[in-house]
This record gives sequence, C-alpha cells and structure tokens, in this order.
Amino acid sequence: MRVHEIAKELGYTSKEILQELHDLGFTEVKNVLAVLTDEQVAHARFLCGEGPEPDTLPPKDRVKEPASEPEPQEAEAEEPAPEEEAPATEDTDEPVETLEEPAPAPLPEPEKPAEPETPESVLLKGPVTVRDFAEMLGVKPNVIVADLMGMNVFASINEKIEVKMAQKLGSKRGVKVELEKKKQEAKPAPPPIVEAPPPKVDKPDELKTRPPIVTMMGHVDHGKTSLLDWIRKTRVTAKESGGITQHIGAYTADFQGRPMTFLDTPGHAAFTAMRARGANLTDIVVIVIAADDGIMPQTKEAIQHARAANVAIMVAINKVDLPQANVDRVKQQLQQIDLAPEDWGGQTICCPVSATAGDGMEHLLEMIALQAEVLELQANPERPGEGFVIESQLEPGMGPTANLLVRHGTLKVGQTFLCGPYAGKVKALINDAGKKVKSAGPSIPVKCLGLPDVPEAGAPFRVIADAREAKGISDRMLAESRVRDLQSPQRQVTLDDLLRQTDPDSTVELPLIIKTDVQGSAEALQHALGEIKSDKVKISFVLCGVGNITANDVLLASASKAIIIGFHVSKENGVNALAKREGVEIRLYSIIYQLIDEMRDAMRGMLQPESKETVLGQAEILQIFDLGKKSRVAGCVVKSGRITANAKARVLRGGEPIFAGQLGSLKRFQNDAKEVREGQECGMRLDGFSDYEAGDIIEAYAVEKIAAQL
Ligand code: GDP
Repeated sequence: MRVHEIAKELGYTSKEILQELHDLGFTEVKNVLAVLTDEQVAHARFLCGEGPEPDTLPPKDRVKEPASEPEPQEAEAEEPAPEEEAPATEDTDEPVETLEEPAPAPLPEPEKPAEPETPESVLLKGPVTVRDFAEMLGVKPNVIVADLMGMNVFASINEKIEVKMAQKLGSKRGVKVELEKKKQEAKPAPPPIVEAPPPKVDKPDELKTRPPIVTMMGHVDHGKTSLLDWIRKTRVTAKESGGITQHIGAYTADFQGRPMTFLDTPGHAAFTAMRARGANLTDIVVIVIAADDGIMPQTKEAIQHARAANVAIMVAINKVDLPQANVDRVKQQLQQIDLAPEDWGGQTICCPVSATAGDGMEHLLEMIALQAEVLELQANPERPGEGFVIESQLEPGMGPTANLLVRHGTLKVGQTFLCGPYAGKVKALINDAGKKVKSAGPSIPVKCLGLPDVPEAGAPFRVIADAREAKGISDRMLAESRVRDLQSPQRQVTLDDLLRQTDPDSTVELPLIIKTDVQGSAEALQHALGEIKSDKVKISFVLCGVGNITANDVLLASASKAIIIGFHVSKENGVNALAKREGVEIRLYSIIYQLIDEMRDAMRGMLQPESKETVLGQAEILQIFDLGKKSRVAGCVVKSGRITANAKARVLRGGEPIFAGQLGSLKRFQNDAKEVREGQECGMRLDGFSDYEAGDIIEAYAVEKIAAQL
C-alpha cells in the first residue's frame, strides 16, 4: 500500500501521513508514492485511531534501550533492529549518527596578545589600493608592497590591486579575502510588457491550495487532444447541465471535488512560446506516449522542453486498447531517458490509459491530483488578481476579448486592470462552461470582456484599483512600445553578452541547444563539449536533437536564454527572422574541431581575463631638467632592457614604488623616440608625476590581458 492510498483511506492528506511516519522514525519513507510495509501501515492506522496497537515499537522508541547503554557493541548485540537504521534520541527527530561520546573538556582560552590582530577575513567590494588593503590587514603598506614585489608585481601604495591578487596576498598572511557579493545586475532581458507589479509577500495563513495547471505534450497523433477531450467531456460539461462548453484556452475539470485546470493548446511549441513571453503557466506536464508507437523524436523534444521549464513531469501511456500496444516497451524506453517509472523503482508517475475507451483515465486524474498535492500549490485568493493572457481575439458583438488564466488573487467584474499595455475595466467574465461569472480565482481560466484592444498571448495582466493610474501606465507603455518598434531588436543572449559578465567569483552558466544531422554527432558533441573542464563556466544542454533548426528551437532558446549550435544542419524558413526578433544567437558549424575550439575560446573569454605584466626595461634618473612651471623632464640612462613610448611606467625610489602611471613623452636628444635601448640616454616625462629625484628608477612595463585558464 502506498502513502497516498492509506492517506485517502484514513481521510488525511498524503503529506500529513508522510510527516507522521517520519515522526515515528520511519525516515526511509521518502515520498507519497512510496510503498509501505505492513508494519508502517499498522502504525499509520493506529495513529489515526483506525486500528489496533501494532506489535512493534516505532523506530523512534526502539533506540531508547541502546541509547542508555554505554557500549555500542553491547547495544548492537542486544538490539535486533537493522544496523543502518539511525537511532533517534527522545527529544529530537533528527537521526544521530553515532552514540554520544564524552566531549573533551574545553581548553582554557589562550591569552591574547594586546597588539592589534590580523583579522581572520576581510571583505572587499572590488579592487583595492595597496594602502587600504594594508590597513584592512593591520600591516604597514610597505609590507604589502614588499609582498607584491616578491610576487614580481610592482605597485605603489596608491595603486589598486585586483581581488584575486588581494586573495593571494591574504592567504600568505592567513587572512581570508572575500568579495562582497554584488547585487544581481539587471539582466539583458527584453523589456517587460507590463511593469512588474509591486511585490507582495503573502502571509502563510493567506495562502490557500490552488488547482494545478496541466499541459499535455507529446508526439503528434499520440492522443493529446483526445485525452483533453475526454476529460473535458466527462468532467466539465457533465457538471453544468445545459451549459455549452466554451473554448477559452483552458478548462477546469473536477476530480472528486479537487479541481484541476488543463491548458487547451497541447504541445511543446505553444508551451515554450508562452514561456518565451515570460508566461510560465504550467505546473505539471503530462507527456503523452502512444503505447503502439513508443517514444518518438517529438516525445523527446517535449520532455526536453518540459525539463527546461523545470516543471513536474508525468507520463500517460495512451492507446492501451490497441492490440499492438506495448506498455512495458514504453516503460523501458522511459527508463533509458532518465524517466524511470515509479513502479519500476523510479520517480516518474506513469499511467496506462485509453483516451478513446476511457480506461485508466480516472487513475490518471487521481495521479494528477496526487502530483499536485505533492507540489503543494498555493495562492492567495484575496489579493488583486494577476495572471496571463492565454489567447485573445476580436469577437463580433463583444469587441476585444482575452482568455485569461489567473495566477494569483482574484479578478472580479467591475475592476480596472492592465492587460498587456492596455488599461480596461472588466465588463464581463465567462467561464469554460459558457456561464457568466462574477469572479475568477487562482488557476481559473476565464474569458474577459472590457479591453480597448487585443493583447498578445502570453501578456501579463493585473488588477489596478486606481483607473487613472492604470491609464497612465498604459499610455506610457504604449508610447514606449512605439519607440521600441522603431529600434533594432534587442539581443537577448549572445556569447558576447556572457563574455561581459563581471563577477569573477560566480559560475557562468552557458545553456546550449544542439542540433545535428545525425544522432551520433549529437552525442559526440555533447561528450566533447562536456570534456571542456572548467569550474567557472558550466555548460548545460537544454536540448540535443537531430534535424534542422526550427522555430521551436528558437523559442526554447529564448525561454531558456540559450545559444543554438547547429552542426551540419541549416535553419528552417522563418528561423532567421524569429531568432532576430527573440534575440537568439545561432552558430552553425560543419567542422567539429572548429566548433569545439570556438566554444572553448568562448568559455575562456567568458572568464575574466587575467592581466600579465611584463617589465620592458629600467632607466635611472641622472638629472632633472626644469622646462617651465610644471614641466619637469627626467634625464635618464637606460640600465636594462628598453623603454618604449606609450609604455606604462612606475617610479622606484629606494627600491619602493612611489608612483605608477603612463609614460607621457620619450625623447632622444630633442626628438621624440619610439624606443630607447640599454646604455642609451633619454629624456622622459610621466603623466601626472613630476617629483623626480636623481637616482630614482623609472621602470617601463606592459600589461597584457590574457584569457584565463579553464
Ligand atoms: P494528438 O495529435 O496528440 O493531439 O492526437 P489526437 O488526440 O488527435 O489523436 C490521434 C489519433 O489517435 C486520433 O485518430 C484518435 O482517435 C486516436 N486515438 C487517440 N487516443 C486513442 C486511444 O486511446 N486509443 C485508440 N485506439 N486511438 C486513439
């Protein structure tokens, strides 16, 4: 018997039963689909007052005796309970790993020296001057300068050092140097269609369970529409005698008093198109697989789209009425793609059904209800309504109408609201059974009348109490969208964008969609790209498929902020325009090495380039020439290497850097020189420094940015 079954029998939620079992110490029961032993069932029944006291003690009480024994070996010999079962103490549910051992008495605190201490760690906001860093570490600046020199870096006390360098210096002195996390910078996401509503945090007691929103996906002809039709016919029209089912983009079915909403447009294309608009509507995806056909390319694609959206995935194995149906074969295929059915020891709920005969449909609905329960979907129905447009149209006699799905709060007749860029007033609401209703709460679809124009599918809506405010926002948004239409489309994600990411400490995610001519190359590519090792750039594969690049791929890339890599494939018609509109980068390759090299380069580029300094040469100041008020020139002889015009230069006095900057001019005799070599004399002027002294060393150096190593 499973957790959800006993829960149903006892009149509790699966979660409550699961919690009770955990409290009794049955921690091995992991989820509501877990199969319970007779003993666990007996305990659950007893706890709910529905059965006799079980013969055995619950695990939490079993450990009492061994816990009182000082020797674990003895306890073990006496205690028949399985070894791996973690004993729990009486006053905590937390399993403890070992029996308590006598803790060593705390040592007396060593006496601390009175002098200022080096801190254990310091927090930097970014590059820091040598002086400030020294202060943070509680040392003199010249100590840091000396440390730097020891690392072949010459910096004056006013020069800034990078965080990485500071970390190296810190670790030398046993101080942890951390970078203060910056606030997330604004993403280059497309401008929102509606300004984000003010964030409102719901209190736990305001949250109520809401119906799940379900989308059917799968290969063409596997029965998505038939499943939706069966549910609609048996669960929607049946309850509203006389009502005429309305197609409003979604409908709410009733399963034993537990409502659930199904989106009417099956398939991953529509699903991802909505996601690309920012409308994440679905909680549960039911992957429909025909039992006679098995997993097909579009099934895999649908699964990848669902996975990319991070929604719960269930499977309906359809057409089991057909003689050639082979449910086990489908389950085997599912296992191969990491969707092992739960009755085969996996996590995926799989329901064999027949959409035409109705077999297994009740079970499918029950499993959807269970999945919803596990997801603990909640919303606050009391707050002002908000959600998304599923479809919109201009209807004769009604004007612009929008089919809306409410996500939070409640939308009511008479309220003013903003839908896409349009401000309107809700004139009427019509539900999926064709009936006029006064309001629609969380997860409920309704047709809404009262808009001045037709909003886009996927556009968000929200109630705004003040009509003038709604109109003001609408005017501004319409004006902005007109300006936007004139501008070139914004690129959403390009490798260059990723390259510009600045936080050196964060891992950069590089989501890829890979399309190849044959399955073998898709796998080879995935493997080769996965081999590029880096702790800083993480490649994730949103989709790896065979065939030309389609509009679907572009939408998925847009929704997942991914880059599309095509190998030996081309783009389908219309893909270029859509990619441009959605701001998706597509890279086509025909040579695998070029692809790998470019990706490796891109990943390196995404890492902060490291700067490498090369000393070009040193010159000693022999004499200072005053050529006017502020114009002082250092007459030098090049002691080693060479000095080049436009080089960076620092001044060392007594071996310590006192200034670093840019060489302003380099002259040999009276003429500008490009380069002066060892043994030659020259005149030098530095930008921003004129306090030369004879004997100072001017060191010329170059800084080169090099790609960071992965
Ligand atoms: P969709 O493309 O996934 O939406 O598939 P449809 O729902 O349009 O179904 C495709 C075909 O399969 C139609 O001819 C249906 O009548 C048929 N079909 C759907 N479900 C079943 C089923 O459970 N059993 C049988 N025998 N046929 C089915």
